[in-house]
Amino acid sequence: MSAERLGILGLGLIGGSLALSLKGRRGAPEVCGCDRRKETVRMALADRAIARACTESEIASCDIIVVCVPVMRSVDLLRRIGGRMRPGAILTDVGSVKAPVVKAGQSAVPKGAEFVGGHPIAGTENSGYLAADDSLFKGKTVILSPTKRNTEGALARIERIWRIAGARVLRMDPALHDHVFAYVSHLPHAVAYALVHSVATLDSNVPLGYSAGGFRDFTRIASSNPEMWKDIVLQNRREVLGAVGHYRKNLALLEGLIRRKDSAGLLAYFHKAKKTRDRL
Ligand code: NAP
Repeated sequence: MSAERLGILGLGLIGGSLALSLKGRRGAPEVCGCDRRKETVRMALADRAIARACTESEIASCDIIVVCVPVMRSVDLLRRIGGRMRPGAILTDVGSVKAPVVKAGQSAVPKGAEFVGGHPIAGTENSGYLAADDSLFKGKTVILSPTKRNTEGALARIERIWRIAGARVLRMDPALHDHVFAYVSHLPHAVAYALVHSVATLDSNVPLGYSAGGFRDFTRIASSNPEMWKDIVLQNRREVLGAVGHYRKNLALLEGLIRRKDSAGLLAYFHKAKKTRDRL
C-alpha cells in the first residue's frame, strides 16, 4: 500500500471521476478532496471516492495535488496552492487549455516542487459530481504538457496516477496542445453552439422535433456547460480565433460551390472531408 497522499481540488465531473477511478485500485494513493460545495464533498465521502475531506491548505500539503476546477479559476488557485506546497510535491491540473495554465503553475510552485500540466481527453456534456463516473478515463488518453522545468521523476509520478485511473498517457508541448485542441475540440464546440444559435434566432419557426440524426448528432456538444466553454474559448482566444477564421474560409468555399452549382467541386469537397472523417 502506497503512503502517497493525493489531494483533489474540485470534485466535479473530472475531479469526482478521478477520485472514483482511483478508489480501491492497487497502488492508488490515499485520496482526499475539497470542493466549495459542502454537498459535493458529502457525496464524495459517502461514495468513499475520497478518504477524507480537506481544506484548501490541507490539500496544499499533499504529495500530489490535482486542480480540477474550471480553467479561468485554476490560475488563481494554482498561485494560492503553490505558495503552500512542500518541496518534492507535484501540482498538476486537468484544464482544457495548457499554455497559460502551465506558465502560471510553473511560476507558482516553490523551489523543489513541480507543476505538470495535464488534460484528460475524456468528458461528457454533463458537469458536477453527480455526473462523475469511475470508468470515465478507462481506455482514454491523458495529455501531459511538460516543459524543460519538469523532471522525468515528476512526470512518471503523474503518469502513474492516470494509468491507475485506466488512462494511457501522451506528452505534448503546451503551445502545440492549444493549437491542436483549438481545431479538434474548441472549434467543434464553438460551431455546435453557433449552429444551434442560428436555429434559435431564426424568424421562421423550425420545429426541432423534426430533427433527425444530423442535427442531434452534430449538436450534442452544444449541451456542454456554457460557463466552462466561455472560459476555454477566452483562455485559448488567439488559437480559437485562428481556427474560426480558417473554418470561415472553408464555409465560404462551400457557399461558393453551392451558389455556382459546381457539382464536381462539391463532390471533391465532400469526398475530401469524408476521407478524413473515415480515417478517424
Ligand atoms: P465541473 O463538473 O463544473 O467541476 C468543477 C468543480 O470544481 C465543481 O464542483 C465546482 O464547484 C468546483 N470548484 C469551482 N471553483 C472551486 C474552488 N475555488 N475551490 C474548490 N472547488 C471549486 O467541471 P469539470 O467538467 O470537472 O471541469 C473541470 C476542469 O476539467 C476544467 O478545467 C475543464 O477544462 C477540464 N476538463 C473538462 C472536461 C469535460 O468534458 N467536462 C474534459 C477535460 C477537461 P461549483 O459547482 O460550485 O462551481
